[in-house]
Amino acid sequence: MKIVFASTNRGKLREAAEIFKDFEIVPINTFSAWKSPDENGSTFLQNAVIKAEAAAKSAPDSIVLADDSGLVIPALDGAPGIFSARFSKEGTDAANREKLLAELSGKSDRSAYFVCAAVLIFPDKTVFAAEGRCYGRIIESCRGDNGFGYDPLFVPEGYGRTLAELSEDEKNSISHRGRAFRKLLTFKGSSI
Ligand code: IMP
Repeated sequence: MKIVFASTNRGKLREAAEIFKDFEIVPINTFSAWKSPDENGSTFLQNAVIKAEAAAKSAPDSIVLADDSGLVIPALDGAPGIFSARFSKEGTDAANREKLLAELSGKSDRSAYFVCAAVLIFPDKTVFAAEGRCYGRIIESCRGDNGFGYDPLFVPEGYGRTLAELSEDEKNSISHRGRAFRKLLTFKGSSI
């Protein structure tokens, strides 16, 4: 069975394929009707719903999956939060990480957590939503080549390695996205 994922982020697509192992994860941009919506919600969940509804319009006969995720830093009043992908002007992973390190410079509290809001919509319009979190801290410089985004700067609680130094399986077992996606898989009556 197929699940259409409202993302073109290769890191997220790989993680989704790994967690929804029994399904074929199809990127939304294979549907010509797809137009990326304005993510103008004020919470992760609102933005995930916006993406999922847009995907459901483009692929009305499919089960669609969307997520909105980001990094929350209490010492930065919750930034980058829902603006994690566009934190720096350039909006690249490297520029976002550089900006994060600059903003945290001199701060003693480097605690942080990732949040993922995930939404599934079925062709009959049934909607399921779940949230996952991963707590940890931001280190002083990047380590590791796996993953994407802020992974090389984030050391999860109870670990000495960054998310970018973990294998895909290890990351999925503790990550915000892994947790949210696995919750979706447990919903009774979801018929997936
Ligand atoms: P989204 O595609 O709007 O959900 O934006 C998510 C952004 O948050 C990404 O571009 C990354 O900057 C960051 N992010 C979300 N999940 C992760 C993760 O698992 N590792 C590292 N960065 C992440």
